[in-house]
Amino acid sequence: MSGMKGVLLFTGKLGYQTRSFDEAAERLGVQLVYVTDRCHQLNDPWNDGAIPVQFADAEAAARLAIGKARERGVPLDGVLALGDRPVQAAALAARGLGLRFHHPAAVEACRSKLRTREVLRDAGLSVPWFQAVRAQPTPEPALLGIAYPCVLKPLSLSASQGVIRANSRDEFVAAAKRIACLLAAPEIRATGESNLEWILVESYVPGREVAVEGLLSDGELRVLAIFDKPDPLEGPFFEETIYVTPSRFGDLEQSAISRCTRDSARALGLSHGPLHAEFRVNEEGVWPIEVAPRPIGGLCARALRFDWHSGGERMSLEELLLRHALDLPPSDLPRESAASGVMMIPVPGSGVLERVEGEDAAQQTPGITELLVTARLHDYIAAWPEGSSYLGFLFASGEKPEDAEQALRAAHGKLHFKLTPRLPVEHPAGGRVGP
Ligand code: ADP
Repeated sequence: MSGMKGVLLFTGKLGYQTRSFDEAAERLGVQLVYVTDRCHQLNDPWNDGAIPVQFADAEAAARLAIGKARERGVPLDGVLALGDRPVQAAALAARGLGLRFHHPAAVEACRSKLRTREVLRDAGLSVPWFQAVRAQPTPEPALLGIAYPCVLKPLSLSASQGVIRANSRDEFVAAAKRIACLLAAPEIRATGESNLEWILVESYVPGREVAVEGLLSDGELRVLAIFDKPDPLEGPFFEETIYVTPSRFGDLEQSAISRCTRDSARALGLSHGPLHAEFRVNEEGVWPIEVAPRPIGGLCARALRFDWHSGGERMSLEELLLRHALDLPPSDLPRESAASGVMMIPVPGSGVLERVEGEDAAQQTPGITELLVTARLHDYIAAWPEGSSYLGFLFASGEKPEDAEQALRAAHGKLHFKLTPRLPVEHPAGGRVGP
């Protein structure tokens, strides 16, 4: 075991998300230790040796992770984080260990959508008009100087949860009430997330949306992929659907997107590690919507594979990130030349998932490389804007991006999800009628 390197991986979820990291770590002979808040009461219920922490207190989580890892004799050579909530603890742990990673202050600036807007505006980037308002009492739009259409969103949730477009005063008031209700829900309160009393209001930025996957090394950005989002995403809710790379934007626009990613990362102070950002592109330029100091979410990482210089072998994003965190070359491989796409399978309406049909047919659709239904049968699945989990993920590859997109649409057309609406029940103590 001597000479073996170790990495602390801070993550809110285990399972599908982390399996590829396990595989990559095994291949590289790296000891991977998970740090998670998945379940802090039970002692290692999944028998994976994960260190249980609570990300709501990032400093305590970082301290505990380092302490426990040292007790176990784990070598601490790198840190990584998946998802928005664990990154701050990872950044603090990296500071404590003297390892290269995004600075905690930069991570903090990305955590609050308000702070991100302020920083990007002050750096001269294109940002929409914005203002933070208290969620309760219901804000009066006439007093805020709002022009329509606008977008309302919680300050610190993610995955487009609670993000709503409003085209009129009535829609604004309805959206504000809906978000206030979501922010007051016990599941959301239980996250211990800060700023849960606030809503950010912004003017609506029209245009086509892209997602950028990047990797920073000592302040230098490498764009790993620009994903087009071919569906219109015009609201009122903004659940993601299809991502396809390479982008069909022209070279000029792609350079402008890369420049805007670099400038946004610099403004926020992001310096070392993964970056995932969303932009809208229109005739006025490139508009940052979100910049996050973490890799692409959910299982979408599987849409990215990198070419080894020799042979036809592909490297996963997870292996690339582990190599980067440990400074193990090569971590600068180009993405494979084939087009690649992923569909986050949308939730057609809230309900209990009773049945999934058409999986085989979808899987056999030409161009489809993988289908994963991640929603569990008999679970209640919330649609957007209250929801934040997809039914599953479809992956496709093709010679051109339009081939991958076409395959995803064809396969999705063969899938049928039967969701039964949940009956409203009165809470025995509170008398409140849900869901
Ligand atoms: P989250 O971090 O929860 O994903 P975002 O701020 O990234 O929240 O918003 C989610 C999605 O909502 C974006 O990807 C975009 O499609 C849409 N959106 C958010 N803000 C705006 C805006 N000001 N104008 C247009 N669309 C927006």
